[in-house]
Amino acid sequence: MHLSFLGASRTVTGSKFLLETGTRRILFDCGLFQGLKELRLRNWSQLPVRPADIDAVVLTHVHLDHSGYLPLLVKNGFHGPVWCTPGTADLCAILLPDSGYLQEEEAARANRKGYSKHKPALPLYTRADAVIALDRLETVPFGMDFDLGDGLRARFHHAGHILGAASITVTGKRWAVPSSCCTTTPSGCSRNGRRSFPITSSACRSTDPMHTEVTDSAGGGVARGTAQFAGPVGGEPQPARRTRSFSFG
Ligand SMILES: [Zn+2]
Repeated sequence: MHLSFLGASRTVTGSKFLLETGTRRILFDCGLFQGLKELRLRNWSQLPVRPADIDAVVLTHVHLDHSGYLPLLVKNGFHGPVWCTPGTADLCAILLPDSGYLQEEEAARANRKGYSKHKPALPLYTRADAVIALDRLETVPFGMDFDLGDGLRARFHHAGHILGAASITVTGKRWAVPSSCCTTTPSGCSRNGRRSFPITSSACRSTDPMHTEVTDSAGGGVARGTAQFAGPVGGEPQPARRTRSFSFG
């Protein structure tokens, strides 16, 4: 099992955390990179995982740096459920189509003014794409466990911040820790403070700029509290069968 930071690492936008077990790939948050052009260009980069191979998405809250990539993920082949609180779903129904509209407006403006090197400039996604993505939303109330498969269970906790915002606790049973994790990213393991339970592995080592950054900064993300282990602490080897929990938010 490992956790990869596909965004919100060395920047605060583009929040996407990919949790992989032997049989499941769960994406926590699905946010847009925002701000500087250098960051926004990352929205056009291919993800290091095929959207069709992601089993489910879980959203912490609606802000576009946490949910705004969802229409593109669905457009590119994701067809699983998107778990969120009822408040987040209500706000997604407003913000995501609006985001698509703004993307279309920006492309139209670039074509009118001729400042894009792309002829024609295209939107990242459209309002129609966003409306289609809304069909994937599945709501769960705060405080109630829901099943993510392969023994993974998640629960939303009130987080303040904005209507519907949640921290997410994920608990897994029968998780085996791949021994290769520690040997392939020793620096990341030591920064994470848990040699026996690293949160990234060789899968993150890549020449792709976005993914390389994920590898380099995974420990920093944890240090900032972007993702926090809530499981037992210790440096002893972990048995293959035990219960672990994460919290996101
Ligand atoms: Zn926010």
